[in-house]
Amino acid sequence: MSSINELTTLQAEIRTCRRCLEEGYWIAPGPVLSGGPAARVMLIGQAPGITEAQVKRPFNAGSGRRLFQWLGQAGWDETDFRARAYMTAVTKCYPGRSNSGQGDRVATPFEQALCRPWLEQELKLIEPRLLILVGGLAIKLLYPPAARLNEIIGTAAYFPLEALNDPLNFDLSQATIVTSEQGVLTGHSPAGRYIVPLPHPSGASLWPNKPENKGLIDQALGLLAHIRTVNEL
Ligand code: SF4
Repeated sequence: MSSINELTTLQAEIRTCRRCLEEGYWIAPGPVLSGGPAARVMLIGQAPGITEAQVKRPFNAGSGRRLFQWLGQAGWDETDFRARAYMTAVTKCYPGRSNSGQGDRVATPFEQALCRPWLEQELKLIEPRLLILVGGLAIKLLYPPAARLNEIIGTAAYFPLEALNDPLNFDLSQATIVTSEQGVLTGHSPAGRYIVPLPHPSGASLWPNKPENKGLIDQALGLLAHIRTVNEL
């Protein structure tokens, strides 16, 4: 089966998935993802919000405005990015509001585990050259739970080609940490994979608004711009 057929089949299976409901978790059924097999950039968010679930479009609303302002700073036009990149999430269905009423519910580790096989199959089919992890749940795919945003935002992890024999390799010890644009240029095969973390762009998240953190986001976007240019992404 060609990769386009495999991906089409996979996406059709994902879109009918109701695993979380069947296990007793409240979610709005209807997973949200987008993109085709030619994508070289993959963006993984945490979970869709209510408007994303309604229109089945990742990062459709407020968070998307800030995300695409950031990606624009790195040189991507939103329409072009949406057309060429693969956009998915750690959990792909809207999880509802949190009990506190402050923002959306964070999917439980069990729900994340239920959804993980879908993400792994997407990664195997897309094999992205650049993976952008947006928000805490996505960042934890690679970084230890105790990692602090101000230690990792503004850096990239580079996995050489040999580390990607396993396309699901999230072993940080096998990556080189890049902290400057010069680090992107020197000796990195375009066949490797960069992974770049970004904070959650939700207006409810205070972290991006702190002056000391804006510089780290600028640094991350500078790295992304450089990776995009060097690898023609
Ligand atoms: S969040 Fe993932 S595992 Fe849960 S129902 Fe949606 S697609 Fe299925």
